[in-house]
Amino acid sequence: MPDSRTPPDVDRAAASRRAVAARRERAALKKDVAMRVISPQELLRRALAHPESPAGAMRVTEFLTAIPAIGEGKRDRILHDLEISSVKRLGGLGSRQRAVLTEFLDARLPEPTPRAKRSRLVVLAGPTAVGKGTVAAEIKDRHPEILLSVSATTRQPRPGEVDGEHYFFVDDAEFDRRVAAGELLEHATVHNAYRYGTPRGPIDDALSAGRTVLLEIDLQGARQVRAAAPDASLVFLLPPSWDELVQRLVGRGTESDEERARRLKTAKRELASQAEFDYLVVNDDVARAASEVASLAD
Ligand code: 5GP
Repeated sequence: MPDSRTPPDVDRAAASRRAVAARRERAALKKDVAMRVISPQELLRRALAHPESPAGAMRVTEFLTAIPAIGEGKRDRILHDLEISSVKRLGGLGSRQRAVLTEFLDARLPEPTPRAKRSRLVVLAGPTAVGKGTVAAEIKDRHPEILLSVSATTRQPRPGEVDGEHYFFVDDAEFDRRVAAGELLEHATVHNAYRYGTPRGPIDDALSAGRTVLLEIDLQGARQVRAAAPDASLVFLLPPSWDELVQRLVGRGTESDEERARRLKTAKRELASQAEFDYLVVNDDVARAASEVASLAD
């Protein structure tokens, strides 16, 4: 007689498939935290909102070691200090444990606090391949009231690019002249290749006329704008997940292992700079991300 306590084979197979999928999802979430695609606080919020989800099923030990710079030794000291048992799962934390863990995370890795005052000068930056250009183009289409700044660059136009519309295509001498004349709000060499810069004149004119201005520039440029115009609203565009960013960066798999490793390292470093920004926007859907960025203007 079959043992009634043993589930039939089909159920066991389905359960084991579910367990594998849940483990894979937990691994992806840990990677997102490790690469700073989501904050540990965000993962904890998801776990508490859905204790049955893969986030909720994550052990507090796994959670802590996913956070950059927390190894096993530090993890055990933290759990000891916070008086949380190492067998606890995030979804099963009691209210005192949630509170002390959140307080610990906020002190260690503060999340951006939205600024009291928004600016009409909005800078959109983010890691390479996150889709800044697509989001900026969507804003240009949907919000004609917002001026999308047209940069100067020393690179050659790509097919379909129009001088004065996508970029001002200039040679090195003209770029040097603009820098020397103080005509650029910021400028940088991007990807160790060509120079790019934001013309100051059109921005000043648009701001004086009461318009919102959007700059879609790289991280070095965003830092320069912060220094030159401390009131500017700096927005960091995030990928929906680390795996998704990897897909976008090396999706076609046509590059060498060395180039692939270099791109991933750069992406990791770029993601780590999000703490310098005022707002984080996830590019999970271009239209949604574009309307969120547009709504962050004054
Ligand atoms: P692409 O050559 O593919 O159009 O742009 C390459 C990179 O240059 C993108 O990351 C874009 O954000 C950045 N970029 C475009 N214009 C500017 C600019 O005026 N200043 C800076 N710092 N970066 C820019």
